[in-house]
Formats: sequence, C-alpha cells, structure tokens
Amino acid sequence: MLTSGMDFGRKCHGWIDLVAIAVLAAVLAAPLCTAQNAPAVPAPSILDRLNSMISGGNGAWTPEQVANMERLRDAAMKDPYALNELRHLTDDIGPRLSGSPQAQQAVEYVAAEMRALGAEVTLEKAQVPHWVRGVETAEVVAWPGQTPGTTQKVVLTALGGSVATPAEGLTADVVVVDDWKQLRALPPGAVKGKILLFNRKFDKEMAAVGDGLNAYVGGVVYRGAGPIAGAAVGAVAVLVRSVGGADYRLPHTGLTMYTDGVPRIPAGAVTAEDADLLKNLTSQGPVKLHLTLTPQTLPDAPSYNVIADWKGTEHPEQVVVVSGHLDSWDLGTGAIDDGAGVVVSMQAIQLLHELGLHPRRTVRFIAWMSEEEGSQGAAAYMADHKDQFANHIGAIESDLGADHTTGIYYAGKPELGRWLRPVAQVLDAIGAGNLASSADTGEDIDGLTAKGVPSFAPVQDSRTYFNYHHTAADTFDKVDPKHLSENAAVMAVLAYALADSAQPAPR
Ligand SMILES: [Zn+2]
Repeated sequence: MLTSGMDFGRKCHGWIDLVAIAVLAAVLAAPLCTAQNAPAVPAPSILDRLNSMISGGNGAWTPEQVANMERLRDAAMKDPYALNELRHLTDDIGPRLSGSPQAQQAVEYVAAEMRALGAEVTLEKAQVPHWVRGVETAEVVAWPGQTPGTTQKVVLTALGGSVATPAEGLTADVVVVDDWKQLRALPPGAVKGKILLFNRKFDKEMAAVGDGLNAYVGGVVYRGAGPIAGAAVGAVAVLVRSVGGADYRLPHTGLTMYTDGVPRIPAGAVTAEDADLLKNLTSQGPVKLHLTLTPQTLPDAPSYNVIADWKGTEHPEQVVVVSGHLDSWDLGTGAIDDGAGVVVSMQAIQLLHELGLHPRRTVRFIAWMSEEEGSQGAAAYMADHKDQFANHIGAIESDLGADHTTGIYYAGKPELGRWLRPVAQVLDAIGAGNLASSADTGEDIDGLTAKGVPSFAPVQDSRTYFNYHHTAADTFDKVDPKHLSENAAVMAVLAYALADSAQPAPR
C-alpha cells in the first residue's frame, strides 16, 4: 500500500535515487499517528462468528473472571470517568504539543489522577522535539484572469517540524503535481526556485467504506517525504494537499521529514479547496504565491511518559500495558487524537479501582509522549525497559479516535484470536465482539510488538476520523459519549483478561 512512494526510485536520474532513498526513509520513519500498515478491518468469516458465538467455554478464564469482565464492561458503559477526564484534558488544558507548557501540565495532571486511584506512578523522562508554530499565511498574488490590485487568500498550515520562510515571506511561481509520477515527468529544472504543490487527493470512497487508515496512508507519504522530494529538485518550498476527508476548508497538519544532504525548505498543507484552486489556476498559466511560515524549532525539551502501575498480586513483575498518547497537535485540542486513547486507558485503572479488582499481573497505564513528533517517548521506554520485554505479557494502545468499536485487533500468533474468544463474547454485548489480526496495533507499541509482545487495539470506526484528524476541529464535541464508553469497556476488559488469565497470552 506504500508503493506510491517506493516506486519513485526506479528511474535513472541521480536526484531520483536520492529522493527514493529519502522517501523510503521517510515512509519507514514517519509517525503517522496510527499504525502504518494496519489492514482494513477484515470481516470475520461466518464460520469464525459462529464458532465464537456457540463454542462456549471460558478458555483461559474461570466463570468468576468472566463475570468480572462483564462487570467491567457494564461499569464502563455507565461511568462517565473517561468523558470527564477528556473534557479536562481538552478544554481546560488544551492542545498538548510536544515540549509545550500544556504537555507538561497534562503530564502532571494525569500523574495526579492516577496517584489518586492508588496506582504506583512514575514519570519516565524522554527528550522531545520542541517545535512552535508561527505565522502561517499565503496569498496568490498573480494569476491568469487576475483583477488588477487583488489577491486571493490560500488557507494553509505549517507542517510539524517545518523550517520557516523569511519573516516577510517568499514569493515564487507554483508548480502543481498530483503524484510522484507527474513530478518525475517534469522537464529538468521545472521546479527550480518554485513552490511545489503535491495535490494527491484523499480517497474519500475508501474512507467511507471503513478503510480510513489506508486512505490516510495513501496521502501521508507526500506529507512526510514531499519536502525532501521538492528540495531535491530545487523547490524553495513545498505544499501538500491536506491529508483528510472533509471539505470545510480546514488544513490538516502533521509531521514532515527532512534528511541530511538535502536542503530543508518550508513546508505547509493547504486545504483541499485551495489545492483545487491552485491546480485550476496553474492549468491556465503562471501563478505566483506569497508564502509566509514562521515556525521555530527550539532545542529538544525534557518531557515524560506517565507510567501508572496497578500492581499485580501474584506476578507484579509481569505487566500488561494499556495506553494512548498524551501529546497532540496544536490546531485543535487533541480530543480524538489522542486524548480519547489516554482517557479510555485511564479508565481501565479507574474501573479496577472502583470494582476492587486486583489481577495477578500488573496493569500498566502509559500516557506516551511525543507520538506526533517521532515517538520519542516510546523510544525512551524501549531503551529504559530493554531487559524486561519477556515480562511484558501484552500491550494495548488506542490511537484511532473514539468512534464505535467493533472489537479487537491483535498482533502476534494466530492462536491469539482463538484464545481471546471468551473475551470477545463478553464484548459482543456492546457490539465489540469481532477479532481481527493486524500487523500493527499502535505507533507507540510497535517496538513491543516487534519484540514479540502480543499487542492489541480497539477496532474503531474510522469513517469520519480523518475529517477532523490534525485539524482545528479535533475538539471535545467530536467524541460521542457512548462510543467513548465502548472503547473504555474494550480497554478495561481486555487489560483485565490479559492480566488475570491463568497462563499468559500465547506468544
Ligand atoms: Zn495519534
């Protein structure tokens, strides 16, 4: 599914080889805020469904443990804990950009909330990027058919990590390409000194049938690698068509990449409407754009993953991770990405506390830091816990919003699906009884997955997620309380099941 990026390297021009390497590196390295290769939700076969419904039996769990799962499920559906926590994180604290005062405030707040529940809390340090957004404006200042003395506004936002234009902006002609192939077909020098726009359209139909993630992946490679590819052919700035599904003239930010040996040029995302405008105008003749982006990259800042252990009674050294990422982009308030993932993970601890449940193994809540800007928090965790992966029994992350969940993704041995059936039966009552294998379950737990730790994620309806993702519209109101509760139920039931089974999950 990432071949639109990889195929780019098959020609003989030197710069294309360079770009191909850079694109490949960027594709491999760029955090997409969600698992990059997660497949579409595969519908379970009729046989699978029947088996799961009629097989009966409690598998790795006693009837009492299954009853506890049902209690957790029902409590999650009634208790507004996650919703209240989300309201505080988004409305009271606000956006939580890596390295920002709000991110630090969120760290301290979540740690205090977990301590209040009796969890053992530690803040684990990670050095994180500290990029700050500045002015971001653009106007078309010359085009065919222009009324003398007028300009046209272009709505855009800087991509995360972008370098700045001069403070007064830069003015240059615009070249529009729809994809790598069109870039490759341009004559030599066609982009030199110009602003290059990648006009790759988001596949709304793919998103509409439930495969939002792959629609996103198809476009995000341009966001990640566009500035490298543009700079390699002499562009002075790169713009990308926003990677998102709704047409409300909203720009979508997100991380972009640079690489050594290629100039770092300013990069922004224009709205779908403005990409169409520039495409239309450039098809008629020369178009000049004045572009001003003044973000700053400050020195890396100290920050923290928040770790809260609900200690196991028999094997406290064995841990089940339940997690989301606490940082967010700064245009909205990070409600669906990924405040929701944090609060449904917090609720897993809160429900264990409320119901007085103390599983055999430790349930470890983690609020990851800086997923959006390179997953530095997850990298620090992998380094700090490198001798403990055998004791990581399972890892769960929620990072695809908080819409209706239909079940559980699992990464690991195929028998995990069969092993989880009693858990799926408990969740079937809220419509979340499907089990689907997936190569990836979450950006922050990918490292654990790669070490052989069975990993999991709620299967979330992604049809509208990418309408709001990384925009100013990612705000508290986008989260449906009932759907959030379903996600909390999946996290709590699954965390408990993994932490209290007689034998650990197969690996
Ligand atoms: Zn995210």
